[in-house]
Amino acid sequence: MQFHLNGLKFGDPDVVPQSPEVQPRTGIDPLPDRVDVLIVGCGPAGLTLAAQLSVFPEIKVCIVDQKPGPLQLGQADGIACRTIEMFAAFGFDSRVLREACWITETAFWRPDPANPDQILRRGTVQDVEDGLSPFPHVILNQARVHDFYLDVMRNSANRLEPHYSRSLKTVSVDNRSDSSNPHPVTATFEWADGSRSKQSEIVMARYVVGCDGARSGVRQAIGRSLSGDSASQAWGVMDVLVVTDFPDIRKKALVQSSSEGSLLIVPREGGYLVRIYVELDKLRADERVAARNITKERLIAAAQRIFRPYRFDVKEVTWWSVYEIGQRLCDKFDDVPSAEVDVRLPRVFIAGDACHTHSPKAGQGMNVSMQDTFNLGWKLAAVLRGQSPPSLLHTYSDERHAIAKELIDFDREWAKMLSAPLKKSPEDKDGVDPAAVQAYFVQHGRYTAGTATRYQPALLTAESSHQALAPGFQVGTRFHSAPVVHLSDAKPVDLSATTIRADGRWRLFLFAGEQNPGMDDAPVRAICEYLARSPLSPVVRYTAATADIDSVIDVRAVFQQGHQDLAIETMPVLLLPRKGKYGLIDYEKMFCPDFKGGADIFALRSVNRKKGCMVVVRPDQYIGNILPLDAHAELSAYFARFMIAPVC
Ligand code: FAD
Repeated sequence: MQFHLNGLKFGDPDVVPQSPEVQPRTGIDPLPDRVDVLIVGCGPAGLTLAAQLSVFPEIKVCIVDQKPGPLQLGQADGIACRTIEMFAAFGFDSRVLREACWITETAFWRPDPANPDQILRRGTVQDVEDGLSPFPHVILNQARVHDFYLDVMRNSANRLEPHYSRSLKTVSVDNRSDSSNPHPVTATFEWADGSRSKQSEIVMARYVVGCDGARSGVRQAIGRSLSGDSASQAWGVMDVLVVTDFPDIRKKALVQSSSEGSLLIVPREGGYLVRIYVELDKLRADERVAARNITKERLIAAAQRIFRPYRFDVKEVTWWSVYEIGQRLCDKFDDVPSAEVDVRLPRVFIAGDACHTHSPKAGQGMNVSMQDTFNLGWKLAAVLRGQSPPSLLHTYSDERHAIAKELIDFDREWAKMLSAPLKKSPEDKDGVDPAAVQAYFVQHGRYTAGTATRYQPALLTAESSHQALAPGFQVGTRFHSAPVVHLSDAKPVDLSATTIRADGRWRLFLFAGEQNPGMDDAPVRAICEYLARSPLSPVVRYTAATADIDSVIDVRAVFQQGHQDLAIETMPVLLLPRKGKYGLIDYEKMFCPDFKGGADIFALRSVNRKKGCMVVVRPDQYIGNILPLDAHAELSAYFARFMIAPVC
């Protein structure tokens, strides 16, 4: 990481100097009257958004939850590879990796054909394919993920902290076309603990984001509802300390019994704790699982029956829950009706479980919820900071609804497979073959790792006209990183993890052609010259004259030659930019392949060696465009679609 740019910085470099306007919090402060963004809900969706927005001291944010304090235990625990790539942008990937349980293999168990009342291991598969991501699939309590986000917020210039114990009551939007009200959304809250005044608190906001879970009040306030299958399946989940002779208790495992149902084992962080998901009863239409009075003893007994012939002696149940699940989706994730998209701008958004719910079997709930608001956060910041027009905000619902729809379809299929009785004979059409379940799991590995997300061509995602220049960097997918070394100091790093921070900046990676970039006629020099000096350059156009040259679009170059074969002093000035109050030189803009580690990024991602290419990466790490190095005008035209020049 880089620091000391504007003078020596003592202490923890993650702690940003406090903004002078910040008032000390006492824990019972009133909600602010006026904010730029009001976030309802401190789950993973709300905290990802709050952490993202906290990076911008000029944006006033308030995040509120009805709970009395941070989550301590329970709820989701699966963290996909893609999610850790995002955590790297927030700087807490290594904390997660240190604490979490790593899932490297998944085991499949089925009834023993010789003794159908007992189970037998059918196979074990690698959980994540090699090279899919720099990060593994891990398991960590959702509450710890919340803690890490809370640290990011606390360390920000505004020292952002949630307001707890307040329950949202109403949300209304002033949609009058003649209204010049800068804070057109009004939300009212009441104290949730009943111990304080019943008097409402009112917050007026430019934007409100409902991250308030499956029973979202924000969703209801904008007249939207979840539709799909009714919540007809009851699930039990328990975190247990257990003594067992079941050999795969430290692996993720799916156990399907012949007549007692199925369960899913998820080993937990710390080496001893295990989570068991047990499928319970089907519910009648509109029936709530709470009405069934299911006890933890019943969950334990169900698990013990499925585990036969293995012993399953539960010593302690540290957390348990029963809940009902159906695959349900909201038709749009903002307050603008589809018919009014051309004439109205969104003011209220919903994210996470507020707009899609699904079974926990694929472990996607927390991951997709966080990706929703990682998508929205930088867009809100770009609009509020005057970098993009408010119409950019329409892309949030367009992009994330399509992803949620895919998730619902996947989850419905997966849940159906896991709930179906096992095939009794090859002719049995209703039953499922355990081999087919295992094959489906392997086939959808990229999906569950979170790396299969692909945004379709639209405002932010260019048509893949130049995809052939780098087939390993698919336009619309997340930037698939690879190891490289710094040209300046030969440090081996991961390209994305070292360059992409959750700071709202765009990245432009220049993959140089085969020619030595020190030569005067190397194409990479021409694009650097254009970017640094042309009035048409997106870097010049969208960066304020007083700001650092990389503060809006951060240009990085990757060369084909080894780091010892290049002379840093011959490189273009754009790649050695002078920044900060002293005009210090940034030496971390140039990279070479990691030949010592055996990874040549050009080969790994099939980048055209002769021509090279430009890869444009959005602030949320997705590839917006791939262009030839000489497509100067095309690059400018791409950014002109959604950016506005600063007012001088
Ligand atoms: P949530 O995490 O639900 O957060 C919503 C937040 O909004 C909550 O903190 C809530 O207190 C707050 N809120 C709601 N209404 C208001 C209001 N009116 N005013 C103020 N605040 C409000 N997923 C799995 O993969 N595995 C599991 O085992 C699992 N177990 C779960 C158990 C429970 C009890 C629950 C509720 C969910 C579980 N999930 C599980 C789902 C998973 O936790 C969610 O998919 C994920 O948390 C979604 O994140 P979110 O931020 O969208 O919503």
